[in-house]
Amino acid sequence: MSQLNENLQLIYQDVLRRNPNEPEFQQAMLEVFESLNSVMAKHPEIAKKKILQRICEPERQIIFRVPWIDDQGEVQVNRGFRVEFNSALGPYKGGIRFHPSVNLSVIKFLGFEQIFKNALTGMPIGGGKGGSDFNPKGRSDNEIMRFCQSFMTELYRHIGEHTDVPAGDIGVSAREIGYMFGQYKRITNRYESGVFTGKGVTWGGSLARKEATGYGAVFFAREMLKARGDCLEGKTVVVSGSGNVAIYAIEKAMLFGGKVIACSDSSGYLVDEQGLDLARIKRIKEVEYGRISQYAEEVKHAKFIAAGSIWSVPCDLALPCATQNELNAKDAEQLVKNGCIAVVEGANMPCTPEAVRILQNAKVAYAPGKAANAGGVATSALEMQQNASRDSWSHEYTEQRLEEIMVNIHKTCFETAEAYGCPGDYVMGANIAGFLRVCNAMDAMGVI
Ligand code: GLU
Repeated sequence: MSQLNENLQLIYQDVLRRNPNEPEFQQAMLEVFESLNSVMAKHPEIAKKKILQRICEPERQIIFRVPWIDDQGEVQVNRGFRVEFNSALGPYKGGIRFHPSVNLSVIKFLGFEQIFKNALTGMPIGGGKGGSDFNPKGRSDNEIMRFCQSFMTELYRHIGEHTDVPAGDIGVSAREIGYMFGQYKRITNRYESGVFTGKGVTWGGSLARKEATGYGAVFFAREMLKARGDCLEGKTVVVSGSGNVAIYAIEKAMLFGGKVIACSDSSGYLVDEQGLDLARIKRIKEVEYGRISQYAEEVKHAKFIAAGSIWSVPCDLALPCATQNELNAKDAEQLVKNGCIAVVEGANMPCTPEAVRILQNAKVAYAPGKAANAGGVATSALEMQQNASRDSWSHEYTEQRLEEIMVNIHKTCFETAEAYGCPGDYVMGANIAGFLRVCNAMDAMGVI
């Protein structure tokens, strides 16, 4: 990362002016801009044709009312979003997030990241993101269904297998995708499997999609450690979150011989020094939709800590798999002090910019989410491929494809960082490689 040169500074000032009060989006843009000094010098056509300015402007932004009726008969009103950011490499592709923190800034930062992440996978997918400020926590199954149906009653007209292909994200998994896909099918009278990914495996979903983001992050971690002559075997691992990404990151880290001792949810964090009991976590989270504190009620030697930061737990490898800006400068300092050797992002933008700087200055291997968590969306592209050919692949084959993609993303980031004179800097490697792929396609297609 470096200071922006004059031209980039001017472009950044302009996008700040055009997108005020959107701190997450601004943060995501700045991170990419900071990687582009030498790219812009090497490729003058990017500035000349204003490709960066065009990339920062979403192709289309849809904001809509989502009215629904709760179990008490009360009318509720939420706001729905879909930001169709960039379709240079394929149909818009990216998840849908249901969380009370969702606003336009959050969806734009996620959509922006998604463009470069998707480009890094090498699959034919553009970037987009959607969601709502709906809070699914504590809602009944019927309420979730009514909400999803109302959401889709507007969104259906904007999506399609060749246009925009949503998937899950925080608060949206196969259950919600089922309700949304069902409503889409009903309104359009089309069984268009490829319009959604992350579907249930009995109705067009891909095996290994559920596991893909977490597994992919650990494949990336393995490659990164390998590049430093190290491995996961015997390492102490801390994983924040306990949702889909966290659960399967824990699973793969354990399969590779790591000892995972902590995870968390929004109420606090859980430490089990003997190693987490993953079957218990899966039951609590996936079957009972419960809270992680329950683990400590069931297991005497485990501790649940409601206040404080999970990053105070000493570890060799940290996998932030919860949400944006969950790991700040103080946390990063603590990790460095405790001898952490690698931080691999399973979530989108979980480390603050200050935290990233601290980790990189301390020579901790750091993998940004747009590279390390790309396994989820890559496997979504594999799901689209299966749907297009009306086929379904085995778990083994799909996971093997995922592994190849992650190894490749690591190689691309590693080599790009070297080529641009910053060996070991995966932020530079990921941003430059993803950015150049998008620029190249946009340039080929003219001013659009
Ligand atoms: N929400 C996931 C992500 O952040 C997956 C998106 C998808 O599969 O389309 O990449």
